[in-house]
Amino acid sequence: MTRSADSRPSPAEAAGFPLEPDAEAMRAMVDAAMARIVPHVEGVAEQPAWHGDLSGERGARLAESLRRPMPEQGEPLEDLLATLFDQAVPAGFNTASPGYFAYIPGGGIFATAVADLLSDAINRYTGVWLAAPGLVQIETDVLRWFSELAGLGPRAGGVTTSGGSLANLGALVAARQDRLGEDFLDGRIYLTAEAHHSVAKAALAAGFPRRALRTVAMDAGFRMRPDALRAAVAEDRAAGARPFLVAAAGGTTNTGAIDPLGELAKVCHEESLWLHVDAAYGGAFLLTERGRAALAGIESADSVVIDPHKGLFLPFGTGLLLVRDRETLRRANALSADYLPPMRVGEEEFADPCTLGPELSKPFRGLRVWLPMHLYGAGAFRAALDEKLDLAAEARARIAAIPGLEIVADTPLTVTPFRLRPRGDDGEGEDARNHEMLERINADGRVFLTATRLHGRFVPRLCVLHFRSHRDRVDDALERIRAAAAALA
Ligand SMILES: *Cc1c(COP(=O)(O)O)cnc(C)c1O
Repeated sequence: MTRSADSRPSPAEAAGFPLEPDAEAMRAMVDAAMARIVPHVEGVAEQPAWHGDLSGERGARLAESLRRPMPEQGEPLEDLLATLFDQAVPAGFNTASPGYFAYIPGGGIFATAVADLLSDAINRYTGVWLAAPGLVQIETDVLRWFSELAGLGPRAGGVTTSGGSLANLGALVAARQDRLGEDFLDGRIYLTAEAHHSVAKAALAAGFPRRALRTVAMDAGFRMRPDALRAAVAEDRAAGARPFLVAAAGGTTNTGAIDPLGELAKVCHEESLWLHVDAAYGGAFLLTERGRAALAGIESADSVVIDPHKGLFLPFGTGLLLVRDRETLRRANALSADYLPPMRVGEEEFADPCTLGPELSKPFRGLRVWLPMHLYGAGAFRAALDEKLDLAAEARARIAAIPGLEIVADTPLTVTPFRLRPRGDDGEGEDARNHEMLERINADGRVFLTATRLHGRFVPRLCVLHFRSHRDRVDDALERIRAAAAALA
């Protein structure tokens, strides 16, 4: 505590050290937040699945109205909560709505919000094992559960990340270091045009030139063709390049297609390539029997990415990177420094998170998965994922039966791309009709779907993954799809 020479209280002391609320003030803060959170969450199903306009004009005006200088004086929490809940929150896509069938729906289970409150209130350091061995063990358990689920074997290891994009980056860096060493510009990465763009972004961030990315042909189901992979690898080797990594999809974002992992693993084995499986979307389905069957072959991967903030319904901010051989992560990331505590090199599979990824200080993400898993049990997540698989399969069958519509890709997970059956070969005219169909489906805000492009054409898609999406809301979506199709077919 600092005191000036004349013993007058410092400004911080005079203000009563406001950064250290007492028990009553802490409770009041959380109570005030809960007074807003509870009605918000209880009412979320009746809020529109998206608000505003898709051009972003209204959002831009709102954003401008929220611009403020850094305040010098404190303001009442109630006022700040009002700004948040009444102004900032409602605009845009309502990713917490059961009517959100867009992109890959996120989740937002409340147990993880509580986990975040706990982690942040405790605020222990989980970058190094020694600083919080118990908490690091909790995170370690989470990583072990999922590497066992993927079947990665006894030498597996992993790290938590902010999401799939950084997990993909971590995988590429580990593979690059392991297979190419420091002169890697002639390395080649194989992926399909349907791979998530974060894989290409990761390759560029990992220092590869664009020419390192080789797009491999797909079959009619948007899956990588192993024969085309073999041919591309042979061609590149003949040209003097160094093929080293196949980035396979464990469920693409566009269609949910899963590359033939078993066959790709065989090619990778024969050609000494690192098999990376981006299962950011599909990975959680390993908890289900159908998901395990669809993802068979994933156990041969050298690295796997799973996003708990998708298929485990967590709030945004948690991805998992899992590798077959934890030493590959350590070799790519373990640098030491004199000001750090001693590391437990080689002792514990997952110790010292900072030696396995680029982050040193990091949020304690392990609790975000650990708490809900222990609280509800894996069975609760399996049941919810099975429900989504059932709903998606049913929706697919019902869309296929709607006159004038066709399914563009029949895939095993929960994305259904569909469109109006083309009437001729005026591609742009067809795009405009499908665009109009999507606008009609979304018009009243009960549901929100988005589209993608497949074979260059505009294709609406329905992705069932939100934990709050149940049969009634899928029915609502189908009703709107049917009506829009009837109006336009
Ligand atoms: C969502 C997604 C990503 C990116 O993950 P983020 O968590 O958004 O960074 C990568 N790959 C696939 C297949 C995805 O669906």
